[in-house]
Amino acid sequence: MFWLMPAVYWDSGLSQSGLSTLAFGWLVAAVPSLLALTLSFGEQTSPLLLRRLDLAGIGTIGLVLALIPWVGNVGHMNEGAHYLLAMCFLATATGFAVAPRSGRAADLDLPIILINSFSYTAAFAVMGNPVMTAILIMLALVSIMMFVTGQRIMSQLQSLRADSEHRAVHDGLTGLLNRDGFIKAVETSTKTESAPTGTTVADHESSDWLVLLDLVGFKQVNDRFGHTAGDMVLTQVGERLKANLPSSSTIARLASDEFAFTIIGSSKNAMECTMGRLLDVMASPYPHDRGSSQVSASVGITQMTGGAGPTELMAEADLAMYESKKTKASYITHYDRSLKEHFETRIDVEARLRQALVNHDIEFWAQPLVLSNNLRPVGVELLARWKLADGSYESPATFIPIAEETGLVVEIGRQALQFAASLLDRWDDDPELKHLSVNVNVAASHLTDGLLEDVIAVQPQGDHRLGIEFVESQLILDHEGGGADRLSSILDEFRRRRYRLLMDDFGTGYSSLSYLWAIPLSAIKIDRSLVMGVEDDRTKAGLLTATVAMARELQIPCVAEGVETDEAIEALNRLGVPILQGFGIAKPRPISETETALRRMVRNARGADQEMPDTNEFVKSLEQMNSEGYRLSVESLGITGDDG
Ligand code: C2E
Ligand code: CA
Ligand code: CA
Repeated sequence: MFWLMPAVYWDSGLSQSGLSTLAFGWLVAAVPSLLALTLSFGEQTSPLLLRRLDLAGIGTIGLVLALIPWVGNVGHMNEGAHYLLAMCFLATATGFAVAPRSGRAADLDLPIILINSFSYTAAFAVMGNPVMTAILIMLALVSIMMFVTGQRIMSQLQSLRADSEHRAVHDGLTGLLNRDGFIKAVETSTKTESAPTGTTVADHESSDWLVLLDLVGFKQVNDRFGHTAGDMVLTQVGERLKANLPSSSTIARLASDEFAFTIIGSSKNAMECTMGRLLDVMASPYPHDRGSSQVSASVGITQMTGGAGPTELMAEADLAMYESKKTKASYITHYDRSLKEHFETRIDVEARLRQALVNHDIEFWAQPLVLSNNLRPVGVELLARWKLADGSYESPATFIPIAEETGLVVEIGRQALQFAASLLDRWDDDPELKHLSVNVNVAASHLTDGLLEDVIAVQPQGDHRLGIEFVESQLILDHEGGGADRLSSILDEFRRRRYRLLMDDFGTGYSSLSYLWAIPLSAIKIDRSLVMGVEDDRTKAGLLTATVAMARELQIPCVAEGVETDEAIEALNRLGVPILQGFGIAKPRPISETETALRRMVRNARGADQEMPDTNEFVKSLEQMNSEGYRLSVESLGITGDDG
């Protein structure tokens, strides 16, 4: 509008020199407008400011017009021009009074209102128009009042906005930053302070670190003592973080029990000291309204090198933290590229494995278990094999760990159970195979996640021929993690329903006696690392002798895995290991091939029985044992009569 003014005035009846003054005034007016325009662009303020600039233009040109009577030979000024002057004032003064106020341009508002009020009023007074003068004085007062009220509203709005901005980036419970706040803070610091991309810093050199910390055991606090107690623990975690981290650290609570912070300008060694101290402090009990609780922390750390933004850094630390989490105790993992590669492989394998499970591309092969004295088969272990598109098979050693991480192992376990049940069903009518047991490998996570229901679903009446192999270490962690009661009751229920439990890979983990007592086991499987080469290794032989003696004491039969040679068979037989499994007896093969091998072994063993009467003291003594649970396992080994 301002820029059209000259055209509007062209016909207003002004003289030549009046028009030149007008043109000059217009040019002069353009200067502050352009200045204000630059200011508002610099501050990236709203487009409403542009309207303010228009107002400034109108105001200035009106002012110039008002001054025309003093600038020499101006000719006459008609009625219309008078009212245009008044309108200029009205538009400028009220416009500025209600204009949105922000940025440096807003500082000009009050001066502009005052100058306008004074000059227009003065102009009409000089022109001898008392009515217009009075109206303009009133309007000036109203404009100033509007300005003052606007100012007050603005400051209230500003404090409200500051408050909501604070809330948008802070966590209400702990007062720490929240995820958004943390991302913003890290964004700022990575822009200014980090080492360039790809730099690796020596352990004593200073660097910046981003740490993610996830509480372990917090959920139990919440579940057991309620949310008030949980909140009290979280608040104290926040306080301990603040008290034990350097003041330069940015600290945040990202999610319910997940915290993040930075350690700035610290060598790797110094950072590790800080972390060690912090974890010590974090480990001490947290008092709350219902007593006190302890929690530990899984920690992931990544170095803040340039180029990586906050989201990327947090993803890195998250991968590292995920590694720590696997230990279920306080643990620190540093991020490195291999974690990322592993993660990418995992994503890929997970997607393909999920599809493979739908397509039933996971087959179950079987490997026989035999008595050591006469090599008579007592059962088989089912071993998963992933059939790939090219007809080759992938080893479970590569995909089971990923299946465990992604939870798909539960579905593999279910399919294995279904396969086992159908196998047992088929063998029921087969005089040569009907006494054989079938063992299924399950992940410990499955044990506490519906395994019993899955077993009952496939074999509702209970069947001592169905064996469940699980790995000791995971079980013990669950035991310590507070799930002991639940776990024991699940295991007791297995026992009550006449399913067998076998502890797998014994000797690789804790091999803890107390857990052997606590769990109603039907057998322990001695890991192949303890078995392979036993014929030439006195230490291994000694360890095996001790294990066999212990198992005998506990009245639990043991199975030696990884039996590869005839010498090993002989040595193990001599050491009193009752049951054997390994390539030296039979390799894992597709079920039809294993069935053929089993029949052959059953027939051969009959002959062997006659030549070599039962010399194994331990197997003989098993038959005399009376304990209910134990008898089950003897039956399951196929040692007693026809009915099992
Ligand atoms: P595991 O339960 O200890 O199974 C025995 C492994 O030892 C099998 O490897 C078997 O092929 C191998 N083995 C048998 N005899 C010998 C021998 O004489 N010498 C040597 N060197 N190795 C022998 P596999 O089939 O590759 O399975 C590896 C692991 O994958 C298994 O170890 C088990 O922990 C897991 N797994 C296999 N199938 C399943 C499954 O269906 N579910 C779950 N959850 N895990 C499974
Ligand atoms: Ca096994
Ligand atoms: Ca094993």
